[in-house]
Amino acid sequence: MTQNNENVIGIPRAMSFYHNYPFYYGFFTALGIKIVLSDVTTKQTLSRGSALVVTETCLPIKIYVGHILNLLDKGIDKILVPSIQSVAYKIYNCSKIRGLPDLIRNVVKQDFTMVEATLDKSEKNHGLYDFLKEMAAPFGITDEKKIKEASKAGWRTYNNFHIMSKSGMSYKKAINYALQGKVFIESSTKEYPISIALVAHGYNIYDDRASMKIIDKLESMDVKVYTALQLSQEQTLEGINTLGEKLYWANEYEMTGTAGHYMKDNKIDGLIALNAFGCGPDSLMIERIIRKAKQFNKPILHLTIDEQTGEAGFITRLEAFVDMLFRKKRATIINKIDIQGQSEYIPNTNFIETK
Ligand code: SF4
Repeated sequence: MTQNNENVIGIPRAMSFYHNYPFYYGFFTALGIKIVLSDVTTKQTLSRGSALVVTETCLPIKIYVGHILNLLDKGIDKILVPSIQSVAYKIYNCSKIRGLPDLIRNVVKQDFTMVEATLDKSEKNHGLYDFLKEMAAPFGITDEKKIKEASKAGWRTYNNFHIMSKSGMSYKKAINYALQGKVFIESSTKEYPISIALVAHGYNIYDDRASMKIIDKLESMDVKVYTALQLSQEQTLEGINTLGEKLYWANEYEMTGTAGHYMKDNKIDGLIALNAFGCGPDSLMIERIIRKAKQFNKPILHLTIDEQTGEAGFITRLEAFVDMLFRKKRATIINKIDIQGQSEYIPNTNFIETK
């Protein structure tokens, strides 16, 4: 059923949603525009999306198409489909992210208004402000002052989300608080025997269907999980330098920077690189990350997710990896005790083992 859509924007719960939603929320809400999100990803979202694109298309894009269909089912007629070309000077996204509006136009044959704002920070005169103007224009909003004020509100929500994420708060909790305009810093007292860095794009981690709730699964195995969200921009850049990479792909920024940073971090026992089937850029990057991890002597598990990935096999691989990390850590501790024993350890002779 079509609702009164005049001041409503549909946002697919996919792709850049997982990075930018706190900003979009603050921005559109300040402009008086109501946001309707697509429902969380289900098997049906994925199968409907898959049916419209060629088989080789990467998993996140199939999911994205399914979310567009879900918003259309809800009767939403203005849907945000951004074209995020570049996030910094000479730093580009992959062709699918850049050409998202064209891709959707070609595969979704229903009538709706695509709010296809372009973010291209590689061009001198086309930056964030043009992107914001293009998001506001379909709602008849052109007042510069109003757009700039809304932008500030967007950044406030976005920054609050990042402050809480960096403190180690879970993704969902940090989003919820940020959208309520709240900031809390959590100090966890729980100690985890093993720490893992999860190297993947946000849309492959925080979409529960795509990632099969990998963070929850690892935490239930007593593993502390670190991701890109706990890193500052400086730490990410330093991570890219560690891997000796030249920054060109925006994708590299997130994956390589995270991997490079955590490889050097002594609290991290191992890395998991998670990518989607059909992703060319990630496959190349993960190859390099695996080679470098060997140099740093960090165990690494590479997982690829696709439509067919079975949960049982996925859990088995996670368990085997975590088990190996536990054994490695135990062996390191025992070795340390043995070495100390040679010089300092004096056995308690009051105790005599009888059997
Ligand atoms: S980076 Fe990879 S997974 Fe992401 S949209 Fe591009 S091809 Fe797909």
